[in-house]
Amino acid sequence: MKNKKNTISFVGLKRQFISLQKELEKSFIKIGSSGTYVFGKDLQNFENIFSKYCNTKYAVGLNSGSDALFLSLKALGIGNGDEVITAANSFIASAWTIAATGAKPVYVDVLENFNINYNLIEQKITKKTKAIMPVHLTGRVSDMDKIKKISLKYKIPIIEDSAQAVGATYKNKKAGSFGLTGCFSLHPLKTLGVYGDGGILTTNSKVVRDKILRLRNHGLINRDECQEWGYNSRLDNLQASFALIKMKKIDQWNHKNRWIAKQYKNELGNFVKVPNDNKWEKPIYHNFIIQVKNRSKLINYLNNQKIETRIHYPIPLHLQKCSKNLNYKNGDMPVAEKQSKEILSLPIYPELLDSELEYIIKKIKSYYK
Ligand SMILES: *Cc1c(COP(=O)(O)O)cnc(C)c1O
Repeated sequence: MKNKKNTISFVGLKRQFISLQKELEKSFIKIGSSGTYVFGKDLQNFENIFSKYCNTKYAVGLNSGSDALFLSLKALGIGNGDEVITAANSFIASAWTIAATGAKPVYVDVLENFNINYNLIEQKITKKTKAIMPVHLTGRVSDMDKIKKISLKYKIPIIEDSAQAVGATYKNKKAGSFGLTGCFSLHPLKTLGVYGDGGILTTNSKVVRDKILRLRNHGLINRDECQEWGYNSRLDNLQASFALIKMKKIDQWNHKNRWIAKQYKNELGNFVKVPNDNKWEKPIYHNFIIQVKNRSKLINYLNNQKIETRIHYPIPLHLQKCSKNLNYKNGDMPVAEKQSKEILSLPIYPELLDSELEYIIKKIKSYYK
């Protein structure tokens, strides 16, 4: 029996594609026959709908979530000699986008919930600190009341890395609506993933929005006049049309992920460490991360049971080779380092079948019994 079972995939992209295929095809034909591929109505619609969704005044479609971070920093004039504070445990894009401006990433250890430890931010602030970039890891919003307080006290803007957090809320406010900008990824592996790279930035500042509109389009203010050096970082009209289709499902998908997380928590909480969210927050569970001793043994066992898992992330940012010149060492970020050795992400996506979820839970339970 066991050997006949198909592997339970870590992601549900192929299943999701099939469920949306008719609508996606219609969009492809609509955009293809319109002849408008760069800029266009669907991009505008998506930007409008996304900013309403996040309850911000503006949203600007970009090439990627990384570009949303990088252009936010550029819009603030951040560069050589500056410092930007971010969490020690994140995807590498949170750090390279800072380094790419010429500024120095300054890492802060994380809390039990994988997000930046706000108690440790102030001691890292110097005259050179130009931004604080909390990361809402796993789709759980950082403690924004605490971080905003620091931001106001030192007059340092917040750039939210909301790449994993479309629709996540903290005290009923959406991720991406707290900082000067909110930076979202539309990479296929993110909950609002399109069919290639994409990103979107939210802001309430017209000045920032206008600046980002120029930076994403060569620095042009119209077809022929260039006001400043820019970049090419636009969200394709076609990808925006796909994102619009997915926007109609996002709340339903997030709800399903939260339900799956609840089952995992109820069933596995006695055996492994599970996330424990507060009543004032609604994480979207981009990842569901358990923490265990002897992780590789569990990974092997689950592999043999045809259950795929991943690690987000096995190497904290301060211990990556690219961070070498920043002179961190083992022991500098004890919580992030400990977590990096014990964390394991289980399959979680709206297309995960109930029978698959039951199977995963059953197997992990029997491993511990
Ligand atoms: C995915 C991700 C990014 C980068 O997004 P891209 O669209 O892949 O450039 C940045 N930060 C975090 C936390 C991410 O998960």
